Amino acid sequence: MKTFYIETYGCQMNIVDSEIVTSILLRNGYLYSDSIQNADIILLNTCSIREHAEDRVKARIRQINSLKKSNPNIKIGIIGCMAESLKEKLLNELPMLDLLAGPDVYRNLPEILSEVDRDNKIINTMLSEDETYSDILPTRYDTNGISAYVSIMRGCNNFCSYCVVPYTRGRERSRNVESIVDEVTSLAQQGFKEITLLGQNVNSYNYIETNFPLLLNILAEQFPQILFRFATSHPKDLSIELIETIAKYQNIAKSFHLPVQSGSDAILKKMNRKYTIDEYLEKVKLLRSAIPDITISTDIICGFSGETEDDHKQTIELMKEVKYFFAFMFKYSERPNTVASRKYADNVDEQTKTRRLNEIIDLQQKISYELNKQDIGKTYKVLVEGTSKKNNKEIFGRNSQNKVIVFPGDISMKGEFVNVEVVDCTSATLIGRLKN
Ligand code: SF4
Repeated sequence: MKTFYIETYGCQMNIVDSEIVTSILLRNGYLYSDSIQNADIILLNTCSIREHAEDRVKARIRQINSLKKSNPNIKIGIIGCMAESLKEKLLNELPMLDLLAGPDVYRNLPEILSEVDRDNKIINTMLSEDETYSDILPTRYDTNGISAYVSIMRGCNNFCSYCVVPYTRGRERSRNVESIVDEVTSLAQQGFKEITLLGQNVNSYNYIETNFPLLLNILAEQFPQILFRFATSHPKDLSIELIETIAKYQNIAKSFHLPVQSGSDAILKKMNRKYTIDEYLEKVKLLRSAIPDITISTDIICGFSGETEDDHKQTIELMKEVKYFFAFMFKYSERPNTVASRKYADNVDEQTKTRRLNEIIDLQQKISYELNKQDIGKTYKVLVEGTSKKNNKEIFGRNSQNKVIVFPGDISMKGEFVNVEVVDCTSATLIGRLKN
């Protein structure tokens, strides 16, 4: 029997995809290996969202090739977004690769691997209009046994001008409700306590007559012991109905990831984000008036094509106004085949991008610290996830607002919801003590 090893890069969707691939290969007689040294098949599940992510994978493949040199029977494959976006180019650049498989052909991996076994190099990057892997229960080897991701949809129709996802993951399609409920039922039976529903734009989930708020309703009612989170949301699709649903249920997390990308209307237009800052702020206001204790996080790209100093200042002003508790912040990285790569020059120099990125990171740290200080004295229900990396006498978890809280405690509490009073903080972490 052949063994396989998967290394996962990129977003949470890729983690789920690796779990789906693991299931498919196990069903077909392959054995899972958590060690690259013992594997006959080495798969890298990849990300194309930034050039840096691709460079990391290429460097890793060259490193892995040393294993293949000592054992030529080893097969190496790239699966996921990089396979989809680079295709033959990748095989030319990295001739040691045996297979490239896009995100919609994982069901065919057993046949692809049989072909590869006959020393053929295989590229299969067909995109599908309906593949959701709804019938495949992901196999979760790399898990804390408490938190799990459940994919509810795949692909994206938004075509933000900088983004490669609609090309690597295809058009949007929603998974059927019954299969989602079945997967959550199985996770609940296994003792999982927190489930994050995933999709590129979960707000536009729609399966026959079930939209995203309705799906959340069904899950929150049926699984009161589970805390539900979700990611990611497009601001244009955030509805009142969704806000009301989050407000209604204790077991839907009071934390919302609302990617803004830029504080400038001119840049948002070039990014094809389909909202203005005023419209975005209106959504923030609606969220906060309906759910006063909600935390909001975001994504920001700095140095997009044509971004002026004034555009950058508008981003800074927006950050000060919204007061995100957390932000993913990146320098713009032009991706091949996107609208932006064809229409707009990547014309903000590297030094300016770096300076602007540092400015927003510094600002975000200050805002996070200020917001965290306001939590001192408050008590939160926290799901214990594990032992603190810095001190093994401390444990950590997250509250409904998605803030990490570290506090003295015993690991036997892992998986329990406990009450923790915040006594101190840094910009990244709350520090607490157990409260009865
Ligand atoms: S919403 Fe925009 S940024 Fe998000 S995956 Fe779709 S195209 Fe990419």
